[in-house]
Amino acid sequence: KIHSIVLAPDFNTAEKINSKLSKIGNLSADGRPILGLDAKELLRIVLGASEDAMLIPAHAWTPHFSIFGAASGFDSLEECFEDLTPHVYAIETGLSSDPQMNWRLSCLDMITLTSHSDAHSPQKIGREANILDTDVSYTAITNAMKKRGGFTGTIEFFPEEGKYQYNGHRVCGVSLSPGETNKNNYLCPVCGKKVTIGVMHRVDKLADRKNGFKPKNAPVFYSVIPLAEIISETLKVGVNSKVVRNEYFKLLEIICREGSGY
Ligand SMILES: [Zn+2]
Ligand SMILES: [Zn+2]
Repeated sequence: KIHSIVLAPDFNTAEKINSKLSKIGNLSADGRPILGLDAKELLRIVLGASEDAMLIPAHAWTPHFSIFGAASGFDSLEECFEDLTPHVYAIETGLSSDPQMNWRLSCLDMITLTSHSDAHSPQKIGREANILDTDVSYTAITNAMKKRGGFTGTIEFFPEEGKYQYNGHRVCGVSLSPGETNKNNYLCPVCGKKVTIGVMHRVDKLADRKNGFKPKNAPVFYSVIPLAEIISETLKVGVNSKVVRNEYFKLLEIICREGSGY
């Protein structure tokens, strides 16, 4: 199972895609409809609706619902998309991986590493983002992703902030590095069940380069910590608490008043 992002150049294309997909599953059942078709077939439908439409594999490394995740079974884009692979121009790095980790795979050198909110709730919109130096149009933005011109970088979480950086067993509160996991035979040291294999482990497994490698002309990336998280850590209170919310808006007011010198 793979989460995918579909970009359509216009409503007509979106309608075409929707009408095809609604024969496969119920599109209105959920904000993220679940469809019983291979990602490759989804890509075929998307391209059939318009050659300008795009499919981007979402949060490419998370253990579940992602192309390279431990549970997906794919070790490369080609395994998943076969002859349609040249039509995949970008993957989303997701919250638990950053470009540096993806640079370790030479097979991703021609792939644009995008970052999006994966918001789930409104206050998280923009928590990760692409930095584009293009016209504000569908064609210009997708061309930047396809040809890299004008795709100048991304804003990223520290991968450690993501839920799936390490391996672990959440119900037991266990978190293991790839090395520790090998030593424990992929089993949880508390309950003995299989651990969930996280992002770092999968990158380690599929990488053909050492940690720290940087491809030539790679776009820059900036790692940021959400303001609410910083307040929460500083005041030692929960990130969803009222105290954090009040402080957050107080700081926003100051920043808006005094300009973006902060
Ligand atoms: Zn998802
Ligand atoms: Zn356990």
